[in-house]
Amino acid sequence: TPVVAVVGRPNVGKSTLVNRLIGRRQAVVEDTPGVTRDRIAYDAQWNGRRFTVVDTGGWEPDAEGRAAAIAAQAEAAMATADVIMLVVDALVGATDVDEAAARVLHRAKKPVIVVANKVDDARAESDVSALWSLGLGEPFPVSALHGRGSGDLLDVLLAKMPTMPSADQRLENGPRRVALVGRPNVGKSSLLNQLAKEDRVVVDSVAGTTVDPVDSLIELDGETWQFVDTAGLRKRVKQASGTEYYASLRTQSAVEAAEVAVVLLDSSEPISEQDQRVISQAVDAGRALVIAFNKWDLVDEDRRYYLDREIDRELKRITWAQRVNISAMTGRAVTKLAPAIRTALAGWEQRVPTGELNQWISALIAARPHPVRAGKAPRVLFMTQAGIRPPKFVLFTSGRLDPQYVRFIERRLREDFGFTGSPIAMTVKARE
Ligand code: GDP
Repeated sequence: TPVVAVVGRPNVGKSTLVNRLIGRRQAVVEDTPGVTRDRIAYDAQWNGRRFTVVDTGGWEPDAEGRAAAIAAQAEAAMATADVIMLVVDALVGATDVDEAAARVLHRAKKPVIVVANKVDDARAESDVSALWSLGLGEPFPVSALHGRGSGDLLDVLLAKMPTMPSADQRLENGPRRVALVGRPNVGKSSLLNQLAKEDRVVVDSVAGTTVDPVDSLIELDGETWQFVDTAGLRKRVKQASGTEYYASLRTQSAVEAAEVAVVLLDSSEPISEQDQRVISQAVDAGRALVIAFNKWDLVDEDRRYYLDREIDRELKRITWAQRVNISAMTGRAVTKLAPAIRTALAGWEQRVPTGELNQWISALIAARPHPVRAGKAPRVLFMTQAGIRPPKFVLFTSGRLDPQYVRFIERRLREDFGFTGSPIAMTVKARE
């Protein structure tokens, strides 16, 4: 759903406005500097359109000063939102801090709405036009507290919201989509047949769903899963020679159609370049990942020894992925696949609230500060999760971070919040 970010300095009435937008009459949270609210994203609906409202004001630094704080909020909003609302107190007018936010938002490539709050009656409306000076277009007068003008504001908001749903969006309540991929002869067809065996029902088409006929619906561990692009696998169609290119195209389209990729490797053979390419395709597409070591029935003590070393050497970049050792032939441990897939999807969809994230990063940096360069150490001012599926994080800093330090943050993020089985994107925005 489209995301609306609400930005503004303390006490302009952000929380009251957020409550008004989401149509909930919950206790209004005082905008006290330094107060960290742990929940900042809310589901909302207006005229049948659903959207998410994000209150970026949950974090107020003590040291950096108001102007820097609001600039960081605005940066975060530009990184995360489809529409940005800058809330200003119409009775006070535009302050230096409001202007600092506006300067950042001038660069926004997304619609920005200036909300002139605390316009409780017609008399206060005369103050509103002064807010044109922010250079962000027409200011919209509202009284978040009394609801005056909030319907009009929601209409304006809807008009500015993007209408196309993201291609990645999951069908509501549809089955989770899994891509079974791997180079030829690793055992993909055998695994699919093994999974579809016995009482695990395969359905080719289910009334009312949009399951593609090339997909298979398979029930595993009490849940129906959609294995994408499996028509060829089911029929055990063997392609002619010279088809590596086509195999790679098939892998690409399968991982793109799926939420999670199960990459099969042949445990009896060395991990090859072609295996690596399949893994890269899944990771680069930003999909959750499970590595299945198939043909485990062929692994003896000797092979095990070498395989462990190959894994250390060849799969270093995906130590975060779960590994399951299975045999499609004997059925060994195939029941471990569904729980592994679930864990990977959970990490892929996890969202850490901004307040929690900033408390965490402050503590982490205090315990292990960035190395000092030329007498100074860059500081992390603000951290936010800009997206999920896969998780994307943005670090706003006072200077360039060492790549090694960014990797350290990512590693600890995984350890402390458990992003098992999902790639993570980290972006650093340095303000020099
Ligand atoms: P695909 O090309 O990835 O679909 O691979 P297939 O499923 O056609 O399997 C290739 C070959 O490996 C076939 O001869 C299978 O019988 C064999 N195979 C698949 N899984 C296993 C397994 O777990 N153990 C053993 N020993 N052989 C397997």
